[in-house]
Amino acid sequence: MRNFLLDQYAAADIDQLVGRVLSDLGNPEPPLKLPEVRELLRLDRAYYSSSDDAAIREVALKLSVAGQQVLARPTILKDAIGKLGLKALLLPERRCILIDSEAPDLKQRWSEAHEIGHALIPWHSGTMLGDNKATLTPACHQQIETEANYAAGQLLFLKERFINDATSLSPGFDSINELQSRYQNTITTTLWRYVDLSPGVVVGAISEHPHRTGRTFSQRNPLRYFIRSRSFKQQFSGVTEADLFNGIRKICSHGTGGLIGTGSILLFDANGQTRSFRLDTFHNRNEALTLGWLVSEPNNQRRRGSQPSNRAEAGGVNLRHPISRLAPSAPTGAFPVFTLAIKFRSYPAPLPHIINNLERCVFEGSSHTVCSANSEGEV
Ligand SMILES: [Zn+2]
Repeated sequence: MRNFLLDQYAAADIDQLVGRVLSDLGNPEPPLKLPEVRELLRLDRAYYSSSDDAAIREVALKLSVAGQQVLARPTILKDAIGKLGLKALLLPERRCILIDSEAPDLKQRWSEAHEIGHALIPWHSGTMLGDNKATLTPACHQQIETEANYAAGQLLFLKERFINDATSLSPGFDSINELQSRYQNTITTTLWRYVDLSPGVVVGAISEHPHRTGRTFSQRNPLRYFIRSRSFKQQFSGVTEADLFNGIRKICSHGTGGLIGTGSILLFDANGQTRSFRLDTFHNRNEALTLGWLVSEPNNQRRRGSQPSNRAEAGGVNLRHPISRLAPSAPTGAFPVFTLAIKFRSYPAPLPHIINNLERCVFEGSSHTVCSANSEGEV
């Protein structure tokens, strides 16, 4: 997975390492067969059960036969798995990957590729590496884990092959399902990669079911993961998790399993104009996965002469009358100073629009604009 925290030189080195593996395997068709990768890299794989003490002990004892010091005392492995919530381990000196057999098959596949990544990257060698749920998530920002996740993504999605396939399909969750079955990775990692590498204006969300939120749900941070393509980040920098989640709520039914919503919502772009997005939300019985893609040009270009909506749907902002209080203070210095209060619900989506207007009508062309917002959404 591309990640802005990933060092570009490290990424280039990993690309080369993965490229060599794929080339040695004859540039295979998807899905990538991990046993072939392990055979090429001379890696073994063993399983343990995180809910079965005896089995953990058995794996540990088996490995201790080889005389590895860390495995001579089975309790170390058992403790590590239990206390740290480990899902997978790499024992580099043994060239062995240990996988939690309790995890679903496709999650095991990601874990295995992640450990292959550690084994493949020369500067990760020399440490027994364990991984839990957090480090195995593509969003992990710890450098060594980001690198292993990047290698896993490059391997399992066959480098550029995936994005070439993805861009040849029309946007929508049908395409995510098609790519999931073609590459045999989890639907979550498939959605993640689709959005992250898309050249288009695309957004993704992983959340609870929008109508069945639990006690830990946060209105401010309603998404577990908020995934944005590079173009989305540039053009929709003000769109918040809450904006997107409100849209997801609007288009989703109360049902569970499969496609639970499809429809259009409006989001503010960086110029304060509303743009139409299409959303598809898929429920995998555990989480709601949403794919959104831009379908409209800016409103003022699309409909000549039409007025923007008074009440923008995404944020409830009155764009014609955005200023709720305007109080001139005593003139100081070269130009007048005003105290302004602009209240809106969707900070900071419409901010550029308002600032542009402030610069024009209040500061009369001065570029000296100072601005801050309080917790109530007032600027
Ligand atoms: Zn790791």
